[in-house]
Amino acid sequence: MSESYRLAARSSGNSTRVHAGHAVFGDGGFALIGGPCSIESAAQIDEAAAGVAAAGGVMLRGGAFKPRTSPYDFQGLGEEGLPLIAEAGARHGLPVVTEALAESHVALVAAYANMIQIGARNMQNVPLLRAAARTGLPILLKRGPSATLDELLFAAEYVLADGNPNVVLCERGIRGFDRHTRNVSDLGGALRLKELSHLPVILDPSHAAGRRSLIEPLTLAAAAAGLDGAIVEVHPHPAEALCDAAQAIDVSDFARIAAQVSSLRAALAPFEHGLAAGRTLRQAQGDIRQAQGDMVPVSC
Ligand code: PEP
Ligand code: MN
Repeated sequence: MSESYRLAARSSGNSTRVHAGHAVFGDGGFALIGGPCSIESAAQIDEAAAGVAAAGGVMLRGGAFKPRTSPYDFQGLGEEGLPLIAEAGARHGLPVVTEALAESHVALVAAYANMIQIGARNMQNVPLLRAAARTGLPILLKRGPSATLDELLFAAEYVLADGNPNVVLCERGIRGFDRHTRNVSDLGGALRLKELSHLPVILDPSHAAGRRSLIEPLTLAAAAAGLDGAIVEVHPHPAEALCDAAQAIDVSDFARIAAQVSSLRAALAPFEHGLAAGRTLRQAQGDIRQAQGDMVPVSC
């Protein structure tokens, strides 16, 4: 590699904030995105949106164009799905993110979405990256299942080099050898991305784990580790999901996870700017002891 990713690289302690509608990534909060793998009907996406909004999620996800491994599986509603997710988002006050699967979809997707997802399979599709970048919309860039961190950062660099500074990186599990999880959630890699780059980094526990029992603990792990958010597959009736049913959680599970994330963040508040910024637990504890020492005892 002749030159490194100079725009994506972290050159200072400053982190980039990415805005998508009123959702913000990289401001020190934990942005939770929820919604189904695929948009199936107006009622389904509306119910999902209602649940995500009520739980405090900041963004609605849902694919109209679905990249499926088998050509015989449901491929998404296509163009017909886009107004459905846009209307559901608007009705419940949520900006929306949906995938552009091909360069030819970009203008159409951009007419409805607040953020364009570039999926794992397309991470190095340069014409697609550049077309998406040129819409000016923020880009959710998912790591390919066998992409290195450098490759992901170079993919982000294409978007940045085209004049679009709004990229959120997403770790969604990489290819492993064990069948008990769909992919391997590379939390360490996600944390390393935050060291290497100023861009926000979120976790997709759904595609990483492939099973609903692991969504909650993986999301909490991401929040505790100081990532910038998570994107979770939420379906009003998971057993009926046309796509990725085994990893879909229902809206009450999502609400519980959102509440757990809030409690966890409150418990970790004394370590603010701590673990994610690379400080040790011991340093954070030292600060707390000092703060306690500085407190003036109240006499009454
Ligand atoms: C998705 O988000 O539904 C999806 C297909 O993700 P990935 O590109 O990470 O497989
Ligand atoms: Mn999916």
